[in-house]
Amino acid sequence: MQYPAPIAKLIDSYMKLPGIGAKTATRLAFYTLNMKEEDVTDFAKALISVKRDLHFCEICGNITEEKSCDICRNTNRDQSTILVVEETKDVMSLEKVREYKGLYHVLHGVLSPMDGTGPDDLNIASLIKRLHNNEVKEVIIATNATTDGEATAMYLSRLIKPSGIKVTRLAHGLSVGSDIEYADEITLLKAVEGRTEL
Ligand SMILES: [Zn+2]
Repeated sequence: MQYPAPIAKLIDSYMKLPGIGAKTATRLAFYTLNMKEEDVTDFAKALISVKRDLHFCEICGNITEEKSCDICRNTNRDQSTILVVEETKDVMSLEKVREYKGLYHVLHGVLSPMDGTGPDDLNIASLIKRLHNNEVKEVIIATNATTDGEATAMYLSRLIKPSGIKVTRLAHGLSVGSDIEYADEITLLKAVEGRTEL
């Protein structure tokens, strides 16, 4: 027996989410069928809104509802330091620490020869453009301590150093292979404070 088309379609949609196989997708689809209509409507609206109302900050690549994000527009922040992260969620993690007062740049990934991700696939060109502004004195590279994260840090360091700007790397109290996303606030604070020059 085949599922009616609306359920089959919903199962297909759930299966596009990471870590969700056919069995879980089917369970979620039938769960949705039994949800209150207003909850389903809110859910659908939230899905659409996250795509329609959010976009990437034209300066740093963070997510925002405006042209540029709150952090880039905040003139009280230290304009001389840019901290480079892989993903938007890393910005959120570091902001929770409240110690870092500089700016950010979101790469939206890391260089990965295995996955075919090269420099042009990442938000790198706009980073280099930001450095032409003489205010920037230090770039802190906070890619994760994975093989690809380290390779990306080295690539950026080689790219930026000739311009005379100081390039540092987060100290790794963050253990090898660990993600910023999962580090606790004290570990992150120590990692920022103990950064080393590349
Ligand atoms: Zn921004």
